[in-house]
Amino acid sequence: MSYPVEYRIRPANPAAHLLEVTLTVAQPDPAGQQFALPTWIPGSYLIRDYARNIISIRAESDGLAVALDKLDKSRWQAAAVEKPLTVTIEVFAFDQSVRGAHVDTSHAYFNGPCVFLEVVGQEDRRCGVRIEPPPKAFGKGWRVATSMEPDGAPIYGFGKYRAENYAELIDHPVEIGELSIGEFTVRGVPHAIAIRGRQAADMPRFCHDIETICATHMDLLGLPADLDRYLFLLHTPGDGYGGLEHAWSSSLVIPRDNLPRRGQDEVSDDYRTLLGLISHEYFHLWNVKRIRPAAFRPYDLSAESHTGLLWVFEGITSYYDDLALLRSGLIDVDSYLELLGRVMTRVQRGAGRLRQSVEESSFDAWTKFYKQDANAENAIVSYYAKGALIALSLDLKLRDETDGRVTLDHVMQECWRRFGETGVGMQEREFEAVCNELAGFSLQDFFDAAVRGTGELPLDHLLERHAIDVHYRTSAGTRDKGGKPARDTAQVWFGASIANRGNRAVVTAVSNGSPAELAGISPGDELVALDGLRVSANSLDTAVRRYRVNDKVGVAVFRGDELLSLDLKFAAAPQNTVHLALAADASDDALARRQRLFGK
Ligand code: ZN
Repeated sequence: MSYPVEYRIRPANPAAHLLEVTLTVAQPDPAGQQFALPTWIPGSYLIRDYARNIISIRAESDGLAVALDKLDKSRWQAAAVEKPLTVTIEVFAFDQSVRGAHVDTSHAYFNGPCVFLEVVGQEDRRCGVRIEPPPKAFGKGWRVATSMEPDGAPIYGFGKYRAENYAELIDHPVEIGELSIGEFTVRGVPHAIAIRGRQAADMPRFCHDIETICATHMDLLGLPADLDRYLFLLHTPGDGYGGLEHAWSSSLVIPRDNLPRRGQDEVSDDYRTLLGLISHEYFHLWNVKRIRPAAFRPYDLSAESHTGLLWVFEGITSYYDDLALLRSGLIDVDSYLELLGRVMTRVQRGAGRLRQSVEESSFDAWTKFYKQDANAENAIVSYYAKGALIALSLDLKLRDETDGRVTLDHVMQECWRRFGETGVGMQEREFEAVCNELAGFSLQDFFDAAVRGTGELPLDHLLERHAIDVHYRTSAGTRDKGGKPARDTAQVWFGASIANRGNRAVVTAVSNGSPAELAGISPGDELVALDGLRVSANSLDTAVRRYRVNDKVGVAVFRGDELLSLDLKFAAAPQNTVHLALAADASDDALARRQRLFGK
């Protein structure tokens, strides 16, 4: 059958990274049809101006060319026509990220916002999409993986697909190439994972573990009425990390060495990271794809959409991603506490947490969190990491003050009923209102301090109430992410991050108030020597161990081509590295609370 809006997409020239997309509108606006391309993709809060990758555009109707006027950076106006109108674009697809489109001689991947023009005024109409193979020279053995509903296309095949409307159309990323596919069922719903990239994973184990995580989330929040399928698209290059959530699928990038190897039974650190990413993106199918801030109902993809609630959608999702690994039995309590300790460490190490609240961080995501510069650690806080700690604090506080009657699980279940099942957008303070309502008392002081304030969270106390000890120590070096005890921790603080750029040790960031800042070291400086001895990014940790608090050293740096001699006085290393441990001598009440928290 044909649809009011029909697209055809093909990797027309993989070697030149070109996709060709044709759009036919059966009944164009009699006054002249407008078209637009999104400037951003839901889930990634940065203006990306996808239209800049359109390298040619033309329109025709009834065999004749139709004039197209460009209205602004992302919109076009076609001249009035009486018959169906066809627009053809060529898109340069060379962005390897989960947010872009990428075509080469080995595969094609695209997100709808990069390639599918919106027919302005007809966004609610059904769309047909024909996905075509590349020219014969390429694509032997290529298959198609997408959560878009087939409309005649064979499973994992080229052919016709469909979507109910434009918003749904652009929420189905598509991967085309040589794919390893695993399939499984979660509570009766077919799920699949399609992996691109050379790999030799233990697929049965991998699918089993993913299924366990999905079932844990599904049992918490329930099966959405419209979730009749789900697909993980996984790209495994040598290096890289990223994920983007969609309503029926997610796109993930992770190094291939994070995949579970055949013959390996334990959950390695790398595999745990992969499982955490999968857990995170899957939880989003409820929290942000179906429970959404009012600012995203509907999405306005022509400009920034501001909300102070990203900490709810990313922070709470970050809390549940690791918690689900524990609840599903894939990791034990010690491993979970290590992950929590790492998140606490990440937040503690940034002085930005004392300057910016998570509500501000959410609101300004477009210009700050997504545009981090050398001063980021001093100026901004992550609504992911601190948001996860607010979720933990809130969960512990609710459990503590209601004797376990109300937990964050209940809050999320109520949010699902109120905003997810109804499709009603969550207003800016409505999450807090739900918490107050379920708790039966006001949490206003807590939210004012945690969400809109910049002080420390009451986590030490709340964890102690749950028989978990919090330990603070100094860092053991640049590779120390926290989460566990360490020997040989630093005594003194230098206060600048260094990266090797070729043979040069370049300062990438300087902590506010640190010895490096007081000495005048600046981001961009090339660090040459400490006390007359050459240093590199690799040797700096060892080099500073020669010194004690209040020792003074000469530092040589190049700023541009000028050599500067600076005087640095070492200070005591900050206690910014956290690890958690089950308390050995806790009260019976605290032990009972811990038992309820971990469900065992
Ligand atoms: Zn997320």
